[in-house]
Amino acid sequence: MSRSTCGDGLSKIYESNKMNKCPKCGKEINKLINIQEVYVLFDFKLEKKEVVYCNRKEDISDSIAYCCPECRYEITGMEEDAVEFLKEKKQ
Ligand SMILES: [Zn+2]
Repeated sequence: MSRSTCGDGLSKIYESNKMNKCPKCGKEINKLINIQEVYVLFDFKLEKKEVVYCNRKEDISDSIAYCCPECRYEITGMEEDAVEFLKEKKQ
């Protein structure tokens, strides 16, 4: 008995899983956007009743998101997962 039809169906599913598509917008992705929040902090004080801002600092938040460049959907928060996601495309 031939099962070739079934086999073809499976290989098509396999092929489509190899392509890196955004789960949200469905576009093919060959890169991700790394989004990190940066906070800008100032000392805020009064000097002779005037408001003074000083000591500007930037603080990077711990939250990192690797997102779809098309719709900004977050694919993963882990660099390893982001690398794996991009690797599959080359197969
Ligand atoms: Zn997307």
